[in-house]
Amino acid sequence: MEDSRRELVFASNNPHKLSEVRRIVGDRFKILSLAEIGCHDDIPETADTLAGNSLLKARWVKERYGYDCFADDTGLIVEALGGAPGVLSARYAGPECRAEDNMRRLLSEMEGVSDRRAAFETVITLITGDDVEQFTGRVEGTIATERDGEDGFGYDPVFIAAETGRTFASMDADAKNDISHRGRAMRKLADRLAAL
Ligand code: IMP
Repeated sequence: MEDSRRELVFASNNPHKLSEVRRIVGDRFKILSLAEIGCHDDIPETADTLAGNSLLKARWVKERYGYDCFADDTGLIVEALGGAPGVLSARYAGPECRAEDNMRRLLSEMEGVSDRRAAFETVITLITGDDVEQFTGRVEGTIATERDGEDGFGYDPVFIAAETGRTFASMDADAKNDISHRGRAMRKLADRLAAL
């Protein structure tokens, strides 16, 4: 049977994010990955804000491939480090570095620092036709003094969510999703899409 659902590209190839967003957005839209539209570009993320980078990614897809789309960008914002690593979260310890290297650098920068406040923030840019909208999700917390927990990815073992007092890596995926930056931004996106 022909699929008549409206197509929307998510500017990502991350299978975990794709299945999460498909689950939250539901069946009304057919969410396509970059690979599914034949986009294998290394999309530049050269802006100095999360909002700027998610806009760059969404514009790239809209302008070069013609699809309505959305793109996300996430960063860990640490108060005592002046907002770092921020847009550099994925490559804090250098280009091509592993999550473990990023956490090691973060813990070492934070050694002896008493103000441990931090937040994760996600900005999603949605482009439909000529309309550009942005949705932000944020979760407050603190940076742990050592790793705790096995689940998740990235900085999860060293980020203690204020709402639970536990690291993201020691919470199950649903509990994390309920309060996480990305979960919150994606639910705002889903609410907007439901009204389109
Ligand atoms: P991205 O924009 O989703 O690719 O996120 C950029 C970087 O932020 C990732 O490479 C991770 O290091 C970090 N990050 C994003 N979301 C999370 C999360 O939920 N937990 C831990 N780290 C995250």
